[in-house]
Amino acid sequence: MGDFTLDLNDDQQSVRAWIHGFAADVMRPAAAEWDEREETPWPIIQEAAKIGLYSLDFYAQQFFDPTGLGIPMTMEELFWGDAGIALSIVGTGLAAVGVLANGTEEQIGTWVPQMYGDADDVKLAAFCSSEPDAGSDVAAMRTRAVHDEATGEWVLNGTKTWATNGGIANVHVVVAVVDAGLGSRGHASFIVPPGTPGLSQGQKFKKHGIRASHTAEVVLEDVRIPGDCLLGGKDKLDERLARARERATAEARAGADGGRVKNAAMATFEASRPAVGAMAVGTARAAYEYALEYAVGREQFGRPIIDNQGIAFQLADMRTRIDAARLLVWRASWMATTGKPFTSAEGSMSKLFASETAKKVTAQAIQILGGNGYTREYPVERMHRDSAIYTIFEGTSEIQRLVIARTLSGLPIR
Ligand SMILES: Cc1cc2nc3c(=O)[nH]c(=O)nc-3n(C[C@H](O)[C@H](O)[C@H](O)COP(=O)(O)OP(=O)(O)OC[C@H]3O[C@@H](n4cnc5c(N)ncnc54)[C@H](O)[C@@H]3O)c2cc1C
Repeated sequence: MGDFTLDLNDDQQSVRAWIHGFAADVMRPAAAEWDEREETPWPIIQEAAKIGLYSLDFYAQQFFDPTGLGIPMTMEELFWGDAGIALSIVGTGLAAVGVLANGTEEQIGTWVPQMYGDADDVKLAAFCSSEPDAGSDVAAMRTRAVHDEATGEWVLNGTKTWATNGGIANVHVVVAVVDAGLGSRGHASFIVPPGTPGLSQGQKFKKHGIRASHTAEVVLEDVRIPGDCLLGGKDKLDERLARARERATAEARAGADGGRVKNAAMATFEASRPAVGAMAVGTARAAYEYALEYAVGREQFGRPIIDNQGIAFQLADMRTRIDAARLLVWRASWMATTGKPFTSAEGSMSKLFASETAKKVTAQAIQILGGNGYTREYPVERMHRDSAIYTIFEGTSEIQRLVIARTLSGLPIR
């Protein structure tokens, strides 16, 4: 009794205020410039590194926050500042999580610090899974990793696409096929160390939004990496593949459907999706706050435009949706941290609702600002472009709905 609370504790409140200060004073004023430049904002990442906001220590602390709210709180504030710059700051974390989740202690100790560098020599990392023909359908991946028995090395060949920080990262984490007969269970993750020959940047994409974040293809041509760059190690991989083969045989005998196989793989995303939901909440909140202030200050027909119900009710709906999105995100983050099973795909629910909220709310903000909202002189235009990414990466809205429906029904809905 009396234990339930949605209040952030004192530590969380002070961390949030500290991030907010950086977002308001450093990121916001630089946002329009880096959006136009369409480049990684190195000076801003360096500023973040100087104060410890771009560091392994900081993200590890938030990741291990026992309430589960450290990461969503951080994401919301950074993306409130600016989505493109924020993605450049947190993109490394996406690759680091790949190592933390699958790597041995030694691999974590060796590679994760090299992903961040230090305040005087900032580095980035990239997570490379998507391919031109394997986006939502991860099992269609074609990049191969072949073990060279003679040298113990792995040889990687293939083309990755859409990699945040791809080609400009110090460390690349690459997901590749080691057993093509096992679908997504036959994949493994590898570290490609800095300067490895054969890894090159392909096309750099010119994007609709989050333009301060670098997105590119990564081409792998006979990339040879030491045996200990296989995350988790060879023994663990061999055991996992043997179990997967047994399971595949048992499922084939029982006539199990591929849809169920995919269900199992998709469940692993439930814990990471709320973080993307929190990014969307940050962008939505930024646009809503701007629109509210504008609606109070802008006068037409001799009165503030918020005096019209048509505008006031839109703002009421915007705020209601944002708060609902945050609650879904916090619930899913709390569930992930406290080990609650995602029996209704609550992680996917939070990402679905928050990402669609960001698209809707930023469009409403443009409408409330009228002609000004449609120009690059005002930030809501950028926020609207930025928000379109949230319903696409880390699983599209359609894939979230698919996962939720399959989880609720237990059926292989296509
Ligand atoms: C800016 C940006 C950054 C990214 N960063 C990274 C990164 O760092 N690392 C990385 O590995 N990837 C990254 N991605 C890739 C991202 O995760 C994929 O774009 C996403 O998974 C969708 O894949 P796709 O683009 O191939 O679309 P597709 O899978 O081709 O989907 C196209 C459309 O079909 C729909 N669709 C597909 N299958 C179904 C289905 N079964 N039922 C209903 N609808 C369906 C989709 O919802 C979508 O609307 C990034 C993408 C972008 C744009």
